Amino acid sequence: MKTLQAAKIRRSWNTIYEGPLWPSQGLCADPEESRRHMAIYHVLQRIPPKDYKTLADSADRWEWYIPHWEALAMVYPFPVTAQGELRPAEPSVPAQDGRIHVPRAGFTRPSAVILYLSPRLELVGWNIIVACVAHELAHLCLKHRLIPGGKTAYDAQEAEAWALVAKWGFGKEAAMHAARAKQIDTARKVFARRLHEKLATANPPAGDD
Ligand SMILES: [Zn+2]
Repeated sequence: MKTLQAAKIRRSWNTIYEGPLWPSQGLCADPEESRRHMAIYHVLQRIPPKDYKTLADSADRWEWYIPHWEALAMVYPFPVTAQGELRPAEPSVPAQDGRIHVPRAGFTRPSAVILYLSPRLELVGWNIIVACVAHELAHLCLKHRLIPGGKTAYDAQEAEAWALVAKWGFGKEAAMHAARAKQIDTARKVFARRLHEKLATANPPAGDD
């Protein structure tokens, strides 16, 4: 079995902090501000030079959004980072899975491209946060479409992003993320089936009256 090579450290905190990719808020940046920040630091330390440069060059085209876990509500200004573009009609529309939608042809509106990291990540395992941060950065590095046209295109982008995450040296974290997703999916299906059975017992099909 192929062993997964762990990513090596390639740059210092100073290089990251003084570069364009650190999500600075306020004057004193702290790589231990939250576990999400710690994971961002961990990933940015290890991305290979060529892809780090691609991401650094793209820094004006997207924004981090890392809400504090105690912030229950806020009004927040997002700069517009992407102009509208002419989107061609999708030639064929494959089956949808509910998470994505196919845009109509025409101009899209100017957008703020946001890399959102949920406060819920503070509660999951370290490998999962690292996998999430690396995966979203991989999408940006690969300049993926924000709204892929259909499930086939969505799945292709997902596979490509995870492949890059593994190439960066986060294969172990990606595998743990996949195992967790599968576990959650199975648990959801079991719950749905049990609920269905319970409802069927509580409300048997109506008689012939
Ligand atoms: Zn993705």
